[in-house]
Amino acid sequence: MIDIEKIRAQFKILDTTVYGKPLIYFDNAATTQKPECVINALADYYRTLNSNIHRGAHYLSSEATDRYEQTREKVRAFINASKKEEIVFTRGTTESINLVASSFGREFLHQGDEVIISGMEHHSNIVPWQLACEQKGASLKVIPFSGQGVLDLDSYKSLFSDKTRIVAVNHVSNTLGTVNPIAEIIAIAHSHGVPVLIDGAQSISHLAVDVQALDCDFYCFSGHKMYAPMGIGVLYGKEEWLDKLPPYQGGGEMIKDVTFERTTYNELPFKFEAGTPSVGDTLALKTAIEFMQSIGIENIAAYEQQLLDYATQRLNDIGGIRIFGNAPHKTSVISFLIGNAHPYDTGTLLDKLGIAVRTGHHCTQPIMDRYGIPGTVRASFAVYNTTEEIDAFINAIIRIKPMLD
Ligand code: PMP
Repeated sequence: MIDIEKIRAQFKILDTTVYGKPLIYFDNAATTQKPECVINALADYYRTLNSNIHRGAHYLSSEATDRYEQTREKVRAFINASKKEEIVFTRGTTESINLVASSFGREFLHQGDEVIISGMEHHSNIVPWQLACEQKGASLKVIPFSGQGVLDLDSYKSLFSDKTRIVAVNHVSNTLGTVNPIAEIIAIAHSHGVPVLIDGAQSISHLAVDVQALDCDFYCFSGHKMYAPMGIGVLYGKEEWLDKLPPYQGGGEMIKDVTFERTTYNELPFKFEAGTPSVGDTLALKTAIEFMQSIGIENIAAYEQQLLDYATQRLNDIGGIRIFGNAPHKTSVISFLIGNAHPYDTGTLLDKLGIAVRTGHHCTQPIMDRYGIPGTVRASFAVYNTTEEIDAFINAIIRIKPMLD
């Protein structure tokens, strides 16, 4: 199914040595590495096509514009949106969520209103809503989750009131790896006439996403977590909602007519794309999607599941390791602690052995509070990781464990 040698050959950075040890990169939930085809697409844009889009009458500009719009079509098809106009390019998940929270908040939040989020959100899906609520005198309601890392849907249902205006939850938790039952979460919200935003930052490279089947109102993700460059992200929004939201930023490209008295706004999606976008990064996003499609998203998911199961089993076999997030449905993320050792100490020792993991609260402080811990060590796998790397990681844990006990 997966030709791992062929895949790894696309990632030259995996040949790096760190402190004389081969690099083992297990920090994929923070950002994935980029395949050669993506790096080439970015470099080729600057070598052969660099120009500003949409406004130019000249060849380079019109070619770059066509390619930019082809990427929009690629993204539309990738997530099965019904229209190209529903795909807005942003800098990443954070900007996509801020756009919705800000514009939705201005138009639809009022004193006493309520916004439902979950207890396992990234700060990016907490703080923008807090800002929007503060401005309007609205408040946040939080869906609790179990010790296993599973959202409590009964509590969720009980959070709705006639003041609920929007629900915002992640598809997959970046800390716990939990795949949330978002189709059910969306259906419940819709039964109350409430729209739903999904933070897809951690799902988009691991699971097939069909926004029409999910029936979500907004879906947000970042290119850099799906083998594309940093600086490009996506906001999918149903046309009916994007039409109703006021613009987020003002500037060039998002306008139809400007006078000092009054401005009329451009049509979708340009209404939300003020200023010069990151054209090269956008073109390279198309190549990244093609890279994933050449392997097959189902094959990626199945392979990563094997890596997850293998690593979980081997970590549990060591003994004395606490894993945070044991939901039945997870992506390839393992948050753990060795005994009572501080996560930073574990991360530093692993680094010296060439193994890159993330340590800390992973921008999810409320999850840490829920478990009463300062942070975790997080190993997260991508399609280019191998069971041999996991073996080396397990051997490293066995080696450093006595130093930390
Ligand atoms: N949500 C989740 C679940 C994430 O994991 C991240 C990135 N760690 C973000 C939002 C923010 O993504 P970005 O920094 O690419 O905007």
